[in-house]
Amino acid sequence: MKTKGLKKDKVNIVTLGCSKNLVDSEVMLTQLKGNGINTSHESQKDDSNIIIVNTCGFIDNAKQESIDTILRYADAKEEGIIDKLYVTGCLSQRYKDDLEQEIPQVDSFFGTMELPALLKKFKADYKHELVGERITTTSNHYSYMKISEGCDRPCSFCAIPLMRGKHISRPMEGLVTEAKNLARNGTKELLLIAQDSTYYGLDIYKKRNLAELLQRLSDVEGIAWIRLHYAFPTGFPLDVLDVMNDRDNICNYLDIPLQHGSTKMLKLMRRGTTREKTEELIQMMRDKVPDIAIRTTLIAGHPGETEADFEEMVSFVERMRFDRLGIFNYSHEENTHAYGMNDDVPDEVKQERANHVMQIQAEISNELNQSKVGRAFKTLIDRKEGGQFYGRTEFDSPEVDNEVIIDASQHYLRIGDFAQIKIKDATEFDLYGEPI
Ligand code: SF4
Repeated sequence: MKTKGLKKDKVNIVTLGCSKNLVDSEVMLTQLKGNGINTSHESQKDDSNIIIVNTCGFIDNAKQESIDTILRYADAKEEGIIDKLYVTGCLSQRYKDDLEQEIPQVDSFFGTMELPALLKKFKADYKHELVGERITTTSNHYSYMKISEGCDRPCSFCAIPLMRGKHISRPMEGLVTEAKNLARNGTKELLLIAQDSTYYGLDIYKKRNLAELLQRLSDVEGIAWIRLHYAFPTGFPLDVLDVMNDRDNICNYLDIPLQHGSTKMLKLMRRGTTREKTEELIQMMRDKVPDIAIRTTLIAGHPGETEADFEEMVSFVERMRFDRLGIFNYSHEENTHAYGMNDDVPDEVKQERANHVMQIQAEISNELNQSKVGRAFKTLIDRKEGGQFYGRTEFDSPEVDNEVIIDASQHYLRIGDFAQIKIKDATEFDLYGEPI
């Protein structure tokens, strides 16, 4: 980190949390650079004198990681290693007053919608002409695109609406322009993200308009893959599946957090659906898009979850055989609906239940991966590391799903290219193959 007072200001943005927070950091990076301010993102070089921490306030672990990161830089400021420390993002939005009291070394705290105010600290203005022109920080060939902000859903356990506000869809024209700019800059894979992507359009177009958005983005030259994340089961717009079928560049992949497999628990969680309706929806997806890969997320240990309810989740996971699955331990979050309930499942039981579900999922994932041995898949090559190339099929999202691993001592591939890879071997979470 820069020694105080010698060189021109240099800003480093540090991002915590989800891909939506990453997009916010990318917009911040674009605006600061657009104002001529020397800015980097997650720079490993210790030469920045101004730090911006973009925090996560989702659940306990994430909050603790954000606080630890702020305190690390607060110490650096006390030691005179950095000059300024700014904090933004969800934790700051949610606990601004407390944080200002507890960590006075921070120069200013900003909420999730306060970029213009943060820019003012640099005597910079929010440049509207840069909207849709985003510097991305992911590998050059894939980019996240946030299609809306906030959420109108009442899920009992979730603090996100407290930090991100009501659902606001981004106008389709702006998204298409952004996709064209990203494609021009090398993006081949577009990952659509939101709090609830299936709610897209209900506010500004008075109808669920995700299918039309997918068609418009699918028409953008250079975009080879479009991947849909954060769908919501209740009111799922089935026309999305038709577009997925019609358009080759829309991945047969869907991330749809379902949270539980017991109707009683789905009711307590205020998810507006039942186990039966959920199973019907998953079956309809598989009937309409036969090779669709479905990723889901569940929560273990929500208040009121009995051993019997958990057994229902287990049988749900065994029956549905999801391609990809993640599970969180319930976190008792202030000001959420569930906070008024008794957090009656002990932490160790939450952890045991989460481990048990992941054991079952590892077996399912291994069986599904074994069935890919001998077949060939269009694979996007993401990186080279330790003598191996790492890539993904259309059924795998970056950072959360399987990878295809290719021996780089035997084969030459280019990062960012697609290659046809024949699968030779598989484990529960990875595939091994060679180009054909
Ligand atoms: S859909 Fe539910 S879980 Fe997801 S962000 Fe909205 S309130 Fe939270």
